[in-house]
Parts: sequence; C-alpha cells; structure tokens
Amino acid sequence: MQTVDVGELAVSAYRKVAPDWIVEPLLAVADRLRGARVIHLSATPYGGGVSELLRSAVPLYNDLGVRATWKIISGEPAFFAVTKKLHNALQGGTEPITDAEIRLYEETSRRNAEQLSADPDFADCDFVFVHDPQPAAVLSFSDTTGARSVWRCHVDTSQPAPGAWDYLGKFVEGYDATVFTLPDFVPPTLPRDRADIICPAIDPLSPKNMSLDDRTAHAVLNWIGIEPDRPLVTQVSRFDPWKDPLGVIEAFRLVRPEVPGLQLALVGSMALDDPEGWEVYRSISDASRDDPDIHVFTNLTGVGNVEVNAFQKFSSVMIQKSIREGFGLVVSEALWKGTPIVAGRAGGIPLQVADDTGGVLVDSTEHCARELLDLLQDPGRAAALGASGRERVRRHFLLPRLLLDELTLLDGLAH
Ligand code: UDP
Repeated sequence: MQTVDVGELAVSAYRKVAPDWIVEPLLAVADRLRGARVIHLSATPYGGGVSELLRSAVPLYNDLGVRATWKIISGEPAFFAVTKKLHNALQGGTEPITDAEIRLYEETSRRNAEQLSADPDFADCDFVFVHDPQPAAVLSFSDTTGARSVWRCHVDTSQPAPGAWDYLGKFVEGYDATVFTLPDFVPPTLPRDRADIICPAIDPLSPKNMSLDDRTAHAVLNWIGIEPDRPLVTQVSRFDPWKDPLGVIEAFRLVRPEVPGLQLALVGSMALDDPEGWEVYRSISDASRDDPDIHVFTNLTGVGNVEVNAFQKFSSVMIQKSIREGFGLVVSEALWKGTPIVAGRAGGIPLQVADDTGGVLVDSTEHCARELLDLLQDPGRAAALGASGRERVRRHFLLPRLLLDELTLLDGLAH
C-alpha cells in the first residue's frame, strides 16, 4: 500500500471561481469537522477520473482543517485484470468471472487489509472513503476500528450483469454509507436511506483546467503535431470500449467529406488499474492506420495535463461518445473551457449536458456525426452552447461543491 504525495492547495483561491453559496457552507461544515482524520483509498494514483478528483480534493480537505491522506492498494496485474472484469460486469459486461479470479480478488484484498491494519494512519482515523470496486473488499478483511466507512461508486451501475451486485454487494453492505452519482445507479438490494447521491466535479485551478491563452494552446498543439489552422475535433478518455473510440473514428469519417481539412485527435491515458488499455489502443491504431487526419496520443507519449487542457480549449467541438459512463469528468472539463461537446446519452453525461446547455446528446454513431457536422457548420451556435455549458459547470460541477457534499455526508455520519 502506497501513500500518494499531493501538493498544497488553498480553498481561498476558489472564491474567485466558485459561487459564494457553495463556499460559505463549505467553510461552515469543515469547521464542524476540524481535526477529523480521513483516509481515501483507491486503486491508482494516475489515469482516470478518481485519481483526477483525489489529487485536488485531498489537499483541499487538509486546507479546510480535515486531515486527509490518500492511499493506493497494491496488486499484481492479474488482480487488476479481475477488477476490470468486475467493473465491466457492473456496467453490464457479460464476460464471466471465474472462481479462481474471485479467490485472487479476495486474497489480494486480504493482503491489502493487513497492510492497512498495520498503517498508523488507519489506527486513529475517523473516516475511510473507499473508491470503486477494486478496493471495495479491503475493509471486510481489516481490523475493526471506530472509523466510519463510505463506499464511493464512480461506475455506471444502472444495468449491471446478473450476479455482479450479488457478489460485490456482500462487501458493500458492511459500509456505513454508500455514494453513487445518480439515483439510477443504486442497486435495488441496497436500502435507499444508505445511499447518497453526489456528483463528481472538476478542479478549475488545476493545470488541466486553468485558463490557457489562445497563443499557448496553439503552440502546445502545434508542438504535438496538430495543425492549428485546420479544424479539430477531439475525444479525451481512457482507452476503454465503453468510451467507444471506434465509434468516434466512424463518426469522424462520416463528417470529414463535408468539412475540408478536418482532423481528429484521440487522446487516451493508460491507467495502472486498466489492463484493457493496450488492447483498445491497438484496435484504434489498426482502425486509423494510414489516415493522416487521425492523431492518436497517450500519456505515455507526453500528453499530460497541459496538453489535455490545450486540446479541450482549442478543439472546435469535443466528442465523448460513451456508451456507459459513471460521470465523465471530461465533459465538464471541456465545457469549463467554453468548448461545446457532442456526447453519448450515458450515465452522468446528461446531468452535464442538460437544458440546452453545453452541447448535444447522441444515441448512435450516425446521430453523433450529424450533430458534429451541425456544430462545425454553425460556429455561432457552437460558441453559445460552450458559454452556457461553462456557466452550468460553474454552478454545479466545480470542486468546492463536491467537497461540500462529501463533508456534509461525513458530518452526518459523525453526529
Ligand atoms: N485523462 C487524461 N489524459 C488522457 C485521458 C484522460 O488526463 O489521455 C483524464 C481526463 O482529463 C479526466 C480523467 O482522465 O480528468 C477521466 O475521467 P472521466 O470521469 O471522464 O472517466 P473515467 O476514466 O473515470 O472513466
């Protein structure tokens, strides 16, 4: 088990961007929890939405007077292959999980539980926040302490494979509270009064979301190999079948004949806990080989936060063609930069693209292509959607609102 080093952040800096009606109650609830100790437990320090959230949330907890640490479970690649299967099954995937895989999941959870039990931070902590299925079983095997436990589900569990909940539910039932992104995600077997609904949020001041001027965005993309004078559409996401990157390529090919010079960028990260990434990367490379208008980038070839920022800022339209989606931080990230999005009607995406703000929801590849073309041909409408999307994100999906919801939950568990 590893403790992740995070930098320092000050809540006061967020007053400039987040609404007062969020920051004031946040300070009040943090005051009631002052000195409380929290462990966040997750599966990877980089790649994907959970690590994105914790990297900013943990230092802000500390600035608010709540002593938080972030710990990562350890496991062999075979363990993460099982947890990805479990993740997929919760999202409706049908690949069966074998008894041997279940044993590996539980043995690895037990080993992590031993390490957690021996960790001095655990002995005197007040709350343990466990993120997603990978570490969900750890607390079932660890020493009992007075800490209150929360399981935070970031996955789209609206249509799980039969049996997936029956298994994971055994571990989840032991928690004092659970958190889901949407009411639809709460499994029918879990009492509704034990499930809170909280949406994730983005850090508006992180290198990924900070304001980048046009010249810098232009220079960053030029350096990476994008031609800034040609129109660009981009999808940023882990290389995962649920994000439908091949559907994005197909939609792009339908639109390209109508938009001279159009380029597509697929920007994807490889996460420690996502062994499917390379497989999907290979199928994307096969599908885009010999097509000079399609650019594929990964975090392993130098695409970091600032580059993602530049793609989201500079693209004419962003795409997020997810079929299943927990929340989809990338949607709020794009909208925060005023860039409109064409996005799959899945999971938490319709919360972000709602009420005619931000972009357009789509249900198929052809639909995606049609809406993409419409926005590329109507820059006025695209800009208006981008602007309304940014305001929606400011009101609902910035980090101080997430902290307010989480601390309110902890306060309720404590008192
Ligand atoms: N991300 C990144 N580089 C990439 C691809 C994704 O930094 O090449 C980030 C992305 O900006 C977002 C997170 O990974 O912050 C993905 O979170 P999201 O909720 O969209 O999806 P998840 O990966 O959790 O399913």
